[in-house]
Amino acid sequence: RAKGHGRDTVAFYEVGDQERVARSLELEGALRLAIERQEIDVHFQPIVDLGTGAVVGHEALVRWTRPGVGPVAPIELVTVAEESGLIGRLGHLVLTTACRRAAAWPAPGGPVTPLLSVNVSPRQLTDPGFVGLVARVLEESGLAPEHLCCEITETVLVDDRAMGAIAGLKALGVTLAIDDFGTGHASLDYVRRLSGIDLLKVDRSFVAGIEDARGHDRAIVAAVVALAASLGLDVVAEGVETPGQAAALAALGCRLGQGFLFGAPGPGDDLVIPSGLPSRGGR
Ligand code: C2E
Ligand code: MG
Ligand code: MG
Ligand code: MG
Repeated sequence: RAKGHGRDTVAFYEVGDQERVARSLELEGALRLAIERQEIDVHFQPIVDLGTGAVVGHEALVRWTRPGVGPVAPIELVTVAEESGLIGRLGHLVLTTACRRAAAWPAPGGPVTPLLSVNVSPRQLTDPGFVGLVARVLEESGLAPEHLCCEITETVLVDDRAMGAIAGLKALGVTLAIDDFGTGHASLDYVRRLSGIDLLKVDRSFVAGIEDARGHDRAIVAAVVALAASLGLDVVAEGVETPGQAAALAALGCRLGQGFLFGAPGPGDDLVIPSGLPSRGGR
């Protein structure tokens, strides 16, 4: 509430606050119901090998379409869930749904080990029951632990409870990725805390300018790829939209990519692994 800025300003801020609060309360109520009724859906976006075009995994992304209202932006619903304490239940539902679906995907042409990548909020990771919950979901779904990847954010690496959960997940055999790498508080201290992490996902804001040889994005991605290589980590570039970006990333030694170029998030009903998706060599 803005005080001491004169009557008009106060009134302006109060109306804005009230609208914002009312909107998020309304959304929270609807989300609570949708979780109870299991009306939350999950879509899947392919992650490909930039060298061969082979699909190596999929990221699960929450989707919620409110009846009579329309789709809610995932970032908005995740934010409301985090602020209202619903993220634990939402995350559990997403994880269960994603693992069940991934366990049922057909695997033509022999054994494939496509990774299922699931986003995990800081609040979920620091919950003392999280590792046990993941173990139960894996067992119930029949998905092998090595097929699951938990995407966490670098800012959570300063939390001792999170570090404990990372160790617990590693012990289960689960893969760990840092999502949106480079967009957190960008301290080299985080690099020290990357032991136990398997994969860095380079944020799409760095991929956008990768073809500009004079810009900094190319240098940043090159540095992340070099850092990952020296730490023995794999790298996924996010938000790859053009063949030029894919080629530039591959030239920098980035092994994996994800983005609209290879496929938008989809329901995953018709998933065939690993064929059926665009191959860079096949055009
Ligand atoms: P994220 O984890 O970094 O996921 C990637 C986002 O980039 C997705 O947005 C995806 O649709 C979008 N994207 C993929 N390829 C491209 C591309 O080529 N260009 C552009 N411009 N965008 C691309 P989405 O699905 O809207 O999700 C937004 C964010 O919401 C996610 O970012 C993640 O932070 C969060 N989120 C989504 N689902 C979940 C979930 O189940 N749990 C949690 N905790 N967070 C989630
Ligand atoms: Mg993610
Ligand atoms: Mg990301
Ligand atoms: Mg991102």
